Amino acid sequence: MFIGIDDTDSPAGMCTTYLGARLVEALRDAGLEVFEVRLVRLNPNAPFKTRGNAAVCIEAGGDSEVAFSLASGLVEELAEFSCANTNPGLVVAERRPDPAFYWKAVQDFCTIEEARAVLDREGAQYRGWKNGRGLIGATAAVASVLPDRTWELLAYRRRALWGTPRRVERASIFAAEAETWPHTWDSVDRENNVVVCVPHTPDPVLFGIRGESPAWVTRARSFIRAEETEREQVWVTNQGTDVHLIARTIGSLLEGRSYRVPGRVAERPTTGEGGHVCLVLGDGDRHLTCMAFEPTKGFRDVVRGLIPGDTVLACGSYKHGTLNLEKIRIDALADDRAVRPPLCPACGTRMTSAGKEKGYKCRTCGARSKEPEVVTRSRAIRTGWFEVPPTARRHLSKPLTRDIT
Ligand code: ATP
Repeated sequence: MFIGIDDTDSPAGMCTTYLGARLVEALRDAGLEVFEVRLVRLNPNAPFKTRGNAAVCIEAGGDSEVAFSLASGLVEELAEFSCANTNPGLVVAERRPDPAFYWKAVQDFCTIEEARAVLDREGAQYRGWKNGRGLIGATAAVASVLPDRTWELLAYRRRALWGTPRRVERASIFAAEAETWPHTWDSVDRENNVVVCVPHTPDPVLFGIRGESPAWVTRARSFIRAEETEREQVWVTNQGTDVHLIARTIGSLLEGRSYRVPGRVAERPTTGEGGHVCLVLGDGDRHLTCMAFEPTKGFRDVVRGLIPGDTVLACGSYKHGTLNLEKIRIDALADDRAVRPPLCPACGTRMTSAGKEKGYKCRTCGARSKEPEVVTRSRAIRTGWFEVPPTARRHLSKPLTRDIT
C-alpha cells in the first residue's frame, strides 16, 4: 500500500517528514513491512505552502486498516491544528494512482476536488482534516513516480530541544562536504562560506544531507558532530531533479509555473535597488523579463556579463510576470563591439567627431576620415551552464554537479 501525508506543519513548528519518520517506526512496531520512504517536493509556487512544499509517501505491506489508524493517530497527535493554514491530508491507497496527478501537482496547480476524484476512482481510504487541502499533497505523494531520484538523510532533534538553538559543529559539516562532494551536495555553500543544511526554523529537523545514494548521505553524516538526535531517516526524493521545469517559449508562460525558456538577450542587464539584476530576453517581438535576485550572489555577475545578441536558455519560476532565474545556459556569445573615433592616419592623434554623420576630424593636423575604429572587447563570461549558489537553491533544482543535460 501507499500511505501519503501532507500539510501537518506551520511556521511555528513541526514538519511532515518528522511525522513520516515516526510513522515508519510505528508501522514496523505493529509488524507491518516498510519498503520505501519517499519525500516529494511539489510546485514551489503553491500558494499555501509553509516552507518547501513537501509531502511524504510510505510504501508498506500489511493490514491497511492498521496503517490508516496509526497514521491518523500520529496526525492527531502531531499536526499543528491551531494554525489556520494547516489542513492535514492522509491517503492509504492499495495501488499507485495515475501519476498524471503527481505531474500536475509538481508543475501546475491542483484542487482538493481533483484530489478527491482521483482517490474515489482508486477506492483509496482517505481523510482530510479542517478544509482537507493536505489531500492534494498526500495524493500527489502516493501518485508520484521518480524517473530520476536523489536521497536525503534527515536528522531530527529530541523534542525537548525543539525551538532552541541547534548545536551542530560547523567545521564537521565542511569536513563532511569535503569528504563526500560531489556525491553529496548543498550541505555547505563554499563560495559564500555558509552552512546550508541546518535550518533556522523552529521545526524538528536538525540537518539534512542530500546526495546520490543512501550510502553517500550516510557516509557524509558520519563526519558530522552535533547534539544527540531523536531519530534519523533516509528519504528517497525528487529533489535536485528539475522535474518542475517545463520547456516553453517566450509569450506562452503562465503565472506560478516553472520553465526552461530559450531567448536572445535584448538589452544590457541592469542592477536595481537591493542588488537585484534584471535581464530582458527577446524572441521576435515578444519579450521576457528575468530576475537574478540579490540572494543569488555571484550568479548575478554571470547575468551582468550578458550583452544584447547573446543566446541563452533561462530556467526558473514565472512569478508576477518575471522569470526568477535558478540557472541559465549560455549558448552563444555575441561580439562585444564598441565604435570610437580612429587614430589620424597622418599624425597618429585620436580624431574627434566632425558632427552627426560627418565622419571624423583631426584637431591637430586637420585631416579627415569617414570610418570609425571598431574595437571587439573580450567577453568576461563563457558559454555553458551557470547556477545560483547552494544558499539560494530551490529544493527541486538540479545542481550542476549532477550531470546536467
Ligand atoms: P512541510 O515542510 O510540512 O512539508 P510545506 O512547505 O510542504 O510544509 P504544507 O504545509 O504541506 O507546506 O502546505 C502546502 C499545501 O499546498 C498543502 O495543503 C498541499 O496539499 C497544497 N499543495 C501542494 N502542491 C499543490 C499544488 N500544486 N496545487 C495546489 N495545492 C498544492
